[in-house]
Amino acid sequence: MSGVRPTHDIVVLGGGSGGYSCALRAAELGLSVVLVEQDKLGGTCLHRGCIPTKALLHAGEVADTTRDAARFGIKAEFGGVDLAAVLAYQDSVVTKMYKGLTGLVSSRGITVVNGAGRLTSPTTVQVGTDIYEGRHVVLATGSAPSTLPGLEIDGRRVLTSDHALRLEQVPESAVVLGGGVIGVEFASAWRSLGADVTIVEALPRLLPAEEESSSQRLERAFRRRGIGFRTGVRFEAVGHSDTGVRVTLADGSALDAEVLLVAVGRAPVSAGLGYAEAGVAMDRGHVVVDPLCRTNVPTISAVGDLIPTPQLAHVGFAEGILVAERVAGLPVSPIDYTGVPRVTYSEPEVASVGLTTEQAQARGYEIEKVQYDLAGNGKATILRAAGAVTVLRAKDGPVLGVHLVGSRMGELAAEAQLIYNWEAFPEDVAPLLHPHPTQSEALGEAHLALAGKPLHVHG
Ligand SMILES: Cc1cc2nc3c(=O)[nH]c(=O)nc-3n(C[C@H](O)[C@H](O)[C@H](O)COP(=O)(O)OP(=O)(O)OC[C@H]3O[C@@H](n4cnc5c(N)ncnc54)[C@H](O)[C@@H]3O)c2cc1C
Repeated sequence: MSGVRPTHDIVVLGGGSGGYSCALRAAELGLSVVLVEQDKLGGTCLHRGCIPTKALLHAGEVADTTRDAARFGIKAEFGGVDLAAVLAYQDSVVTKMYKGLTGLVSSRGITVVNGAGRLTSPTTVQVGTDIYEGRHVVLATGSAPSTLPGLEIDGRRVLTSDHALRLEQVPESAVVLGGGVIGVEFASAWRSLGADVTIVEALPRLLPAEEESSSQRLERAFRRRGIGFRTGVRFEAVGHSDTGVRVTLADGSALDAEVLLVAVGRAPVSAGLGYAEAGVAMDRGHVVVDPLCRTNVPTISAVGDLIPTPQLAHVGFAEGILVAERVAGLPVSPIDYTGVPRVTYSEPEVASVGLTTEQAQARGYEIEKVQYDLAGNGKATILRAAGAVTVLRAKDGPVLGVHLVGSRMGELAAEAQLIYNWEAFPEDVAPLLHPHPTQSEALGEAHLALAGKPLHVHG
């Protein structure tokens, strides 16, 4: 059946983290919602991003633990990696979450339309010959891996993260182009699973957006793990051979490997979807929005990786919820993107919230900083893990940034973001107890030290 359907409150185009969270919240608020998705609900995060990569990293952690078992007095023999079984485990996690999500969406009475949609006016989305009309339209078509000019992805030797998650065997060797979150996570997982890995990063350090000391600690840990990296050098070209690739760098050196993973960022999915034609202001493929995710067209909002905000699933969730509440007439406030927790799930993990030292100084803050080394933490010693908690505050003022490095330290980002977002002073946090023995005590210790009453600190 074709033709214009009855008007809905909201038509959401794209069923990833940004789109489905908007649909769920809008339905919860009593709005009628159509959610258009061409592939599977859950988008990048569930099917090609957060969830499968973390399952792969966990399999790598199990491999490392087995190899290291003797350090804990346990006799175990590492017999190798069965990647097909790892993929089956990964898929079972994704499938379980996918079933949960589809059940949730249908239980809220959301109309899911399976097909490729196109914006045809400020209030309509067309799927095939059907037109869905909404009082409001939310664009949430996400992002896809990008590449560099002249660097052709073939899916066999030159891969994106999408291909890397579907490999049938762990590569013997890999060059990872890009030392950002995705590159660092794959390098870590592949190394744990037995590959020889070298990361190439044009900027001077791995995870260049993080606190400098966090990058240094990660680099030290990667060196110890035998993960190679070449920083401050640009990729020049890739050549193919029967056995793999030869990657040449701008300094004239070359790296040979079985595969090249291109992890140089992700670009918004907006080409050919009718956005500009409907009058939506665009900037290099991104939809331009104000702090409340409104486009220049009053009936259209946009969320998630499609807009130039941090490319994180939880950012998409927050933006989706914000738009749903705004359209439902509830009061909303802009998201403080500096207060969004960021985690790189490598071994060791690197996590942060708030400002780096460099950013705080650029904003004119006089800062005080404490770095608490995990060497003094009981749980980290039990885990035989290294790392640190770095906390910076404005002099006599609130906490401005928390930076965490170490095994499983990403879990502490939740507490760190409460501290930052509530603009707590270290003196507010110091009296709060942290369960012993946990790594969270290191966060408590750093705040005790910043409040002028260090406990387990030498000197
Ligand atoms: C390898 C990797 C690891 C990651 N790990 C993490 C992590 O650990 N933590 C974290 O927070 N973030 C992580 N991310 C980022 C996270 O996945 C994204 O920020 C998030 O998925 C963005 O959500 P979105 O809804 O904006 O877009 P997407 O999830 O990309 O969803 C967009 C949806 O729109 C659909 N769509 C596109 N065009 C159309 C059309 N014309 N018609 C119908 N449907 C359409 C797509 O099929 C897709 O389902 C990771 C990403 C990658 C690639």
